[in-house]
Amino acid sequence: MKACSKYIQEIADYIDGEIDTALCAQLEEHLKTCNNCRIMVDTLRQTVVLCREGKKEKLPPEIESKLNAALKKRWEKKFGK
Ligand SMILES: [Zn+2]
Repeated sequence: MKACSKYIQEIADYIDGEIDTALCAQLEEHLKTCNNCRIMVDTLRQTVVLCREGKKEKLPPEIESKLNAALKKRWEKKFGK
């Protein structure tokens, strides 16, 4: 799905607490229809809830490292190592 690359960027913003609620809703809509993104974001489910509530909290280290690894993979694919 072509839209995924766009949403992965949104996910990154949203981890930084910089996504707005409209984008957050869009992201969740996409996740309903996209397994790939859902798997990636699955560990971030708690954060989705926090996003809805407008809070920003530190991710558990295990989840943060998983996300960082996933993002790094994508970055390397796009820009090279
Ligand atoms: Zn997707």
